[in-house]
Amino acid sequence: YSAKAHRNEFSSYEPEMNRGAQDRLRLESDLRRAIDEEQFALAYQPLVNLNSGKVVGVEALVRWHHPKRGLLPPGEFIPLTEENGLILQLGEWVLGAACRQNKAWQDSGLPPMMMSVNLSMRQFRQQQLAERIKEILEQSGMPPQYLELEITESMTSDVEFAAETLSSLKELGVQISIDDFGTGYSSLVSLKRFPIDKLKIDRSFVNDLAQGGSDAAIIQTITTMAKTLKLKVTAEGVENDEQIQLLRERNCEEAQGYYYTRPIPANLFENWFRHRSQTA
Ligand code: C2E
Ligand code: MG
Ligand code: MG
Ligand code: MG
Repeated sequence: YSAKAHRNEFSSYEPEMNRGAQDRLRLESDLRRAIDEEQFALAYQPLVNLNSGKVVGVEALVRWHHPKRGLLPPGEFIPLTEENGLILQLGEWVLGAACRQNKAWQDSGLPPMMMSVNLSMRQFRQQQLAERIKEILEQSGMPPQYLELEITESMTSDVEFAAETLSSLKELGVQISIDDFGTGYSSLVSLKRFPIDKLKIDRSFVNDLAQGGSDAAIIQTITTMAKTLKLKVTAEGVENDEQIQLLRERNCEEAQGYYYTRPIPANLFENWFRHRSQTA
């Protein structure tokens, strides 16, 4: 979104600039209300083990049911909440809702599953993040070992701070994964310094996997080094059989993507899961 902000800032067309600024203000006040009125919902997308075929977890992805504009994907409002700080409140709502859902599923007899939640940079930098998450876990009754926090490579650029923050999170007993892996600047070697559990290979490397370019080699390199570093690996954005096959051959253990299902509301996920268990 920085490119877009840049464009607005230097646009020579004033009316357009004003419209952009007004839209932004409107969206910002809508967001404040949305948090109070709980217009947000979570969609869930499964992570599947490629050897056993078992669903090992789900990722919680936030959506906004905007009263006028309909269902908005996170790309249309998360960047703004990161800029104005509302992400702290929204992020806490997401964490709470995801943990409560996981607990409800476990109580209803579904097998235990990991619950992955995305953290934003601003949350990661928040004072007392670990304490807040601890409270949220306690309030929900979800055992900490089922929570997986997704961070991005960019959050590890301040190495000292990241190492300290991550170890305070690990002390809670949660799992840590690096999301969109391969798109940032961190080397696998630098990751050795952090207490992380998993790499999620960015979907850009999975997209053209069957086209025979360099992506297969990149994925092979990631899975080989991840094994050495004792990290799990999930491939994101898997859409077809061919990709699944190639990922298996490259010893990637988990996959997530439209191939299984798009992110769906909790009740639809339950149906999907039960149907899958019956037919598998
Ligand atoms: P992400 O964490 O990398 O999540 C995966 C995104 O890829 C999701 O987009 C998902 O719908 C999409 N996806 C999954 N499988 C496929 C596939 O097979 N093909 C394609 N083309 N796309 C696939 P979504 O839900 O729009 O979320 C976009 C991003 O917004 C997320 O990327 C995450 O970085 C952010 N986000 C979502 N929810 C939250 C949240 O609660 N908090 C924060 N801080 N960020 C969030
Ligand atoms: Mg993610
Ligand atoms: Mg993410
Ligand atoms: Mg990702």
